[in-house]
Amino acid sequence: MSSEKISKDMPMLPLRDVVMFPHMVAPLFVGRARSIKAIEEAENADKEIFLCTQMDASENEPKTEDIYSTGVIGTVAQMLRLPDGTVKVLVEGKKRGRIEQYIETSDFYKVRVSVIEESRGTESVEGDALRRSVLKAFEGYIKLNRKIPGEVFSTVSAIEDMGRLSDTVASHLNLKITDKQELLETGDPEERMKKLHEKMQEEVEILEIEKRIGKRVRRQMEKSQREYYLTEQMKAIQKELGEKDDMKSDVQEIEAKLKDKGLPKEVEERVKKELKKLKMMPSMSAEATVVRNYVDWIMDLPWTKEHTKDRLDIKEARSILEEDHYGLRDPKDRILEYLSVRTLTEKIRGPILCFVGPPGVGKTSLAKSIARSMGRKFVRVSLGGVRDESEIRGHRRTYIGALPGKIIQGMKKAGTINPVFLLDEIDKLGMDFRGDPASALLECLDPEQNSNFNDHYIEADYDLSKVLFIATANITHTIPWALQDRMEIIRIPGYTEDEKLHIAKKFLLGKQTKEHGLEDSLTGVADTALLEIIRRYTREAGVRTLEREIAKLCRKVARKVAETEGGKSRSKVRVTAKNIGGYLGVPKFKHGEIEEDDQIGAVTGLAWTEVGGELLTIEVTIVPGKGGFTVTGVKPEGENVMKESARAAMSYVRSRGAQLGLDRDFYQMVDIHIHAPEGATPKDGPSAGIAIVTAIVSALLKKPVRRDIAMTGEITLRGRVLPIGGLKEKILAAQRGKVKTVLLPQENEKDLEDVPAEVKKGVEIKLVEHMDKVLEEAIISDEPLLKSFVSPFEAKGAIGVSGTKMN
Ligand code: ADP
Repeated sequence: MSSEKISKDMPMLPLRDVVMFPHMVAPLFVGRARSIKAIEEAENADKEIFLCTQMDASENEPKTEDIYSTGVIGTVAQMLRLPDGTVKVLVEGKKRGRIEQYIETSDFYKVRVSVIEESRGTESVEGDALRRSVLKAFEGYIKLNRKIPGEVFSTVSAIEDMGRLSDTVASHLNLKITDKQELLETGDPEERMKKLHEKMQEEVEILEIEKRIGKRVRRQMEKSQREYYLTEQMKAIQKELGEKDDMKSDVQEIEAKLKDKGLPKEVEERVKKELKKLKMMPSMSAEATVVRNYVDWIMDLPWTKEHTKDRLDIKEARSILEEDHYGLRDPKDRILEYLSVRTLTEKIRGPILCFVGPPGVGKTSLAKSIARSMGRKFVRVSLGGVRDESEIRGHRRTYIGALPGKIIQGMKKAGTINPVFLLDEIDKLGMDFRGDPASALLECLDPEQNSNFNDHYIEADYDLSKVLFIATANITHTIPWALQDRMEIIRIPGYTEDEKLHIAKKFLLGKQTKEHGLEDSLTGVADTALLEIIRRYTREAGVRTLEREIAKLCRKVARKVAETEGGKSRSKVRVTAKNIGGYLGVPKFKHGEIEEDDQIGAVTGLAWTEVGGELLTIEVTIVPGKGGFTVTGVKPEGENVMKESARAAMSYVRSRGAQLGLDRDFYQMVDIHIHAPEGATPKDGPSAGIAIVTAIVSALLKKPVRRDIAMTGEITLRGRVLPIGGLKEKILAAQRGKVKTVLLPQENEKDLEDVPAEVKKGVEIKLVEHMDKVLEEAIISDEPLLKSFVSPFEAKGAIGVSGTKMN
């Protein structure tokens, strides 16, 4: 409780930035003339002076309304004049007071102050609790605020009076002027204690946060300082060891290269962005490696530069093709036509060349020659077994170990944007749940789309429009249709013996002799020796194994030379048909000799497989049974085709049963077992039809089949012989196998015109229209095979099961 009783007149000292409280002793520096005057006045009178805070500290001549009206009546305890004319005073606050009236304001402020007397307050539990909590908060405050000396607390805690306690505590706090003034103006001690407690708690909270932040900042600083120190130390060590900061200098190097690289605008921007990222990463981090790899890929790829200039001289192209390859008249002509069109149009808008043929017929080497004749670089990418789209188009960079696809990899290898790009084994492309690689390929082959091919890893459009794509395949029917549609298929069927001999003599032998360093030692290989290799050590449509065998021969010769002469004075070696066995070992194949005699139930068929034409033997055995069928030797997927052929064959045989002298229900008493070796799985349809019938009839009649006849043809239920595919390959196989006669469907006659004479050389070709003719040609029989009509009874016993006579 406070009550205003007395009023007093006294000089007034306006204070800046400080609020005086009763019982507070404070030194003040006074400079303003008016203030000094006021102090002098007080000094001369009873030393009493009113200490009152001005609202705005920066105000030099505050007006009366700029000064708070509540203040403290104090006394001047000491006064000291300083040499610069200012005065230092020590004042002590006594009691609260309020300005009633300004009496004089000219020289100094003189005011009439009413003194506010303060009640002591009564002792209560509540008051005690308040006192304790204020003290506790003050204790916390002191701990957080280093500026207040520790002993202050013990002095303060000894104060019993609430009013005095609150004033003393308030005077020590570092509060805003307005807050302090508010406390000063609160006359009731209890009320003041409460406010004080509140403010102190706020303050303590702020101080705590400040302290926490301070600690964190310090820790952070310590950490970064430590890191800085360590990296500097590492740098110093590296320098000492003679290593420089690789990553940094690499980045600079790339930046320098970037200018001449001639990247498309957006790609260049991209690289710059990545380099910026790279600079900010620690060089050893995994992420930096990923970014680094990416930038390397972009920088290593050719983007806009053609490093070779096209040379499109058709005459020269022809001589290069001739220089590299023997024969292949047809493919060479087609290639030259293709190149001629290119010279005239400049652009590759046309179809993509696709060489189709068995292994080793020169598909790859033709493509290489095209590159050579155009003066272009050559790259080859194998598509065999590619099932995943991302193998073509690359993996996204988010995957660990991601790489661009095969196309971009090939382009990097080429190093120029206009290579000849060979897509090898395009027929072996797979497809599954990981996407369709063919559609990705389509995108690079399509002239409409391939100027902005999109690789998942590179993430930027890549221009493939200058690339000359060439594809190779063994067969056409597994090439996806959409791809076939864009390709010009050029078939290379395989070589005749004669052609092989020429290739061996003119190309393979010279190449291998040189590679084995035998130019001086191997004086020659006789033609007969080469023929021997072709016939007895290889059986193929192309010349791959032939080349391998010649390489083997060279190896053996080299060893012999090195061993006998110690490699000094070289001995001369000549390989002939006689001594070839000494180098290559026992021949792998028989040649010319019919393997076995004419046999019952065994027929030589002709098939067309991925590796070219093939001779194969179809065997049939008849055993007592109930009309069952067994097919062995072929894969499950081939079995159905085979069974169908066999059923058609049986229907024909039954329809001719009477003429053949078979029992009417002979088929119900026998089981037929057909064995066809794997090669017979017809890739081109059921072309083994007539061979199966012949084998069945031979087995039923127990009459042998001519071994030197080979046959191919599809059959209808009535015995008509239907045309087949792969004619050239099949005739080649027959020629290779020293077959004398080949039976072909009449309807294939027109295709025979396309078969070169040298392929047909040495084989007699007979065209057949009906199965009856086939049987007549193939089955050895003294009497005419098909009797015009024989009664079933007469013919009884003609089949082996009945055990009665035959022939
Ligand atoms: P493909 O790609 O058809 O499987 P390659 O092109 O690899 O076969 O040929 C195999 C080997 O045979 C190569 O060394 C190649 O030079 C050679 N070759 C193939 N055909 C001929 C040919 N007509 N004239 C000369 N060499 C040939």
